[in-house]
Amino acid sequence: MTSTAENSVDDRAWYAAQLAGGTARFFGPRRHDCPWCGSTRLTVEVRSKELYQRKPGRFTLEKCKTCNFVFQNPRLTGEGLNFYYRDFYDGRGAAQADEMSSYGAPANHARAQLVQRHAGPDGPRSWLDVGTGWGYFAKHAAEILPHTVFDGLDQGSGVDRALERGWLAHAYRENAFPELADELRGRYDVISMHHYLEHTLDPRAELAAAARALEPGGLLEIEMPDAECVLRHVFRSWWVPYFQPQHLNFPPVGNLLQALVEHGFRPLEVQQAEAHQPVEVLMALVFAMTKIGPDPDHPWRATEASDLQRKVNQVAWTKVFPKLINPALKVDILVNKALISRLSHGNAYRIVAVREGGK
Ligand SMILES: [Zn+2]
Repeated sequence: MTSTAENSVDDRAWYAAQLAGGTARFFGPRRHDCPWCGSTRLTVEVRSKELYQRKPGRFTLEKCKTCNFVFQNPRLTGEGLNFYYRDFYDGRGAAQADEMSSYGAPANHARAQLVQRHAGPDGPRSWLDVGTGWGYFAKHAAEILPHTVFDGLDQGSGVDRALERGWLAHAYRENAFPELADELRGRYDVISMHHYLEHTLDPRAELAAAARALEPGGLLEIEMPDAECVLRHVFRSWWVPYFQPQHLNFPPVGNLLQALVEHGFRPLEVQQAEAHQPVEVLMALVFAMTKIGPDPDHPWRATEASDLQRKVNQVAWTKVFPKLINPALKVDILVNKALISRLSHGNAYRIVAVREGGK
């Protein structure tokens, strides 16, 4: 998180041009009704900045008081999303995104094991991971399911890299799963969407697409943040599952289960406390570091970094952060053991559902 990439003049020029008129133009109009149920009983859930790369902008999540759906309002336009995604998983952010994803083995094993329990003794033969990022799910899941062929879909370059690394048998470099769904019909025993739906513009369109792509008996696995988690009250705008501005929508688990049924799925198992990812304190520490010592070479910086700012960045990331990683992780594990495992839910939920006949 210290400076790792040289900026080209073009990068700085691009960001400067994008930001010339401020960030207001990245947003559409504010909605007055809930995109999930249509209710007009909305309340502000949280206001946040972009805490990881410290790109400028302010974001609001609102909550529907009728169905508890939480969503970004006003929402970023396609151009706005492009601005905030740029250099996050690709470009300047690629090496970090790759590294962060590589730590996901425990969660990826649990995801594979949940499906394995419902897929019969031979396990699934073919599995499409939608929103696969850098493809680590396929790498780790193959340790549980060595006979399954994994394909992946993602808009970023990570999916191509996963193909090169041999983790994926096929890579779809796509941004729109719903447009591909008919063509994929019957090709997969399992489709997974791990921390994917919250990034999409219309989660129910994604469920409809999964229903078109799967034959009856096919399995759909979904994992996404649970915005009903009690820890949101502790961390507020620094609660990592909010992850502004990328996370656009947070259906409560009940809403998603109902939507699955409406789209021809029968939920088989729901994991809540088990799907908790104990990273809140660690990520709050990262956000503190990005606040104290932001990358002096970020091409979206408004002003050139001073020598002092460069020094603070260097000390924050090379001296302070490494000393605090393990204590932060210990607190996260303690919170998980002492609190989350005793509650009925954590900061994410995981569902496996079967595609039924008909519809
Ligand atoms: Zn609603």
